[in-house]
Amino acid sequence: MTRLSFRPVDPTASKPFPVANATLPYWRTEHHEIDSHRSTEDLPTECDVLIIGSGLAGASTAYFLTDDNPSPPRIVMLEAREVCSGATGRNGGHCSMGSPAFIDSVIQKHGPEAAKELFLFTAAQIYAMKHVVEKEKIDCDYMLDRFVETFLNQSDADNIKETYEAQLKAGLDYINDVDIVNPKYVEKITGIKGAKTATSVTGAQLWPYKLVSSLLARILEKGCLNLQTHTPVHSVSVSPKGISIVNTPRGSIRAGKVVFATNAYTSGILPLYADKIIPTKGTNSHISVPKDTKFPPPHLNFTYGITYEPPQTRDYLIPRPDGGVICGGAKHTFYDAKELWWGNFDDSTLFPMASTRDHFETVMQDNFVGWEKSGAKVDRIWTGIMGNTADSFPHVGQVPGQPNHFILAGFNGSGMSMIFLTAKGVAKMVRDDVAFEESGIPRLFKTTESRLKLEVKP
Ligand SMILES: Cc1cc2nc3c(=O)[nH]c(=O)nc-3n(C[C@H](O)[C@H](O)[C@H](O)COP(=O)(O)OP(=O)(O)OC[C@H]3O[C@@H](n4cnc5c(N)ncnc54)[C@H](O)[C@@H]3O)c2cc1C
Repeated sequence: MTRLSFRPVDPTASKPFPVANATLPYWRTEHHEIDSHRSTEDLPTECDVLIIGSGLAGASTAYFLTDDNPSPPRIVMLEAREVCSGATGRNGGHCSMGSPAFIDSVIQKHGPEAAKELFLFTAAQIYAMKHVVEKEKIDCDYMLDRFVETFLNQSDADNIKETYEAQLKAGLDYINDVDIVNPKYVEKITGIKGAKTATSVTGAQLWPYKLVSSLLARILEKGCLNLQTHTPVHSVSVSPKGISIVNTPRGSIRAGKVVFATNAYTSGILPLYADKIIPTKGTNSHISVPKDTKFPPPHLNFTYGITYEPPQTRDYLIPRPDGGVICGGAKHTFYDAKELWWGNFDDSTLFPMASTRDHFETVMQDNFVGWEKSGAKVDRIWTGIMGNTADSFPHVGQVPGQPNHFILAGFNGSGMSMIFLTAKGVAKMVRDDVAFEESGIPRLFKTTESRLKLEVKP
């Protein structure tokens, strides 16, 4: 086993590519010993399955390829930076089932059957992750919770109520888990000042970096994974005999099958997805309460989405056991400067406007009952890159025209609710040659020529 210090990737790349010197998220302040791991000094020359990317998508694909498999394939994982240094290490630390508004938008566009399939899939994922965390004894603060989507605007609140009631009337049995907090008590229950209504669904919070790095460590222990960090893939070609050649500055690897778990950066090495998965920059913060505060705020028992009164904007946050919160969003502070976030894959810089940080500095005092005099303040702020698609669903399955190339990428802002079981399905396709339709992955995720024709808009 060889461990290396950080070596920057090519910072001049104009195609989407992980950049050097990324901002430091809260989740990456405690490094796992495999953070900069290289299983061997040199790259292997060949393997059965080569996975590009070590976020939740790459790590869970590797996990399901090897779990309960007496003859696992020889897997190589190549990661441009450190383990889990992309979106998974920079997000809000939360996943949840679909909300009534989300279900409604899917019903309107794709019909009730597709919506049901998707909702049940996101629900199952929460418990599937819990099961693996327990089975593998992973210490990553995984906790089931209720995710409370709160609306401060009366017309939003009216719309949500109408949508929910229409779904009840239509007899959508699968929305049993969805609840609407009685508007009479919504401020008291959510603790959010001026809340007009709130929906609640089951969700989970976790330390995503700890889940991913620990999963990878377990797979390394089994001896069937060769992990190579600080090894950017610059291109993937296919020989006339159909062998995939994966090219890096450290050499090339011949691979039987290649899995692209590269999310926002996919089009950097898979041109078919240029303009189809758009890197989109977001920001997140850790807000802490001084230990010696004279006015300790109440601990929050839910995780939250908050849609404000105009300006129309939304934040999301989870309470941390350290007494602070992780809060992301603040999009209204940078929305008009489109070039700063749309098509932007530079997570080495923060949004330059002071208003972004200022928003997080006061978000708790301004909105939460009992936090007004807490002295809560931002102690860390960072950025991360999502991969946006035309219909907000990921591209998953066999890459069109390349039967040995598989993709699970283009997870938008709520990828944590979709990735884990998607990876299980992709692993089945890779490992057992099952068709997409037999993989358990929602039909809406299948990467197809027709989806690749859709235009992606901000
Ligand atoms: C600020 C922010 C907040 C978010 N909050 C939430 C949230 O609260 N809940 C939720 O559900 N989702 C959230 N998301 C979205 C979620 O984080 C992503 O959907 C998810 O993490 C994507 O996982 P992934 O493994 O596909 O991608 P990533 O975690 O980005 O992993 C891809 C990996 O591939 C590597 N890579 C890429 N190209 C190459 C290459 N050419 N060679 C080698 N390696 C390469 C990258 O370095 C990276 O490590 C948020 C995202 C951001 C940015």
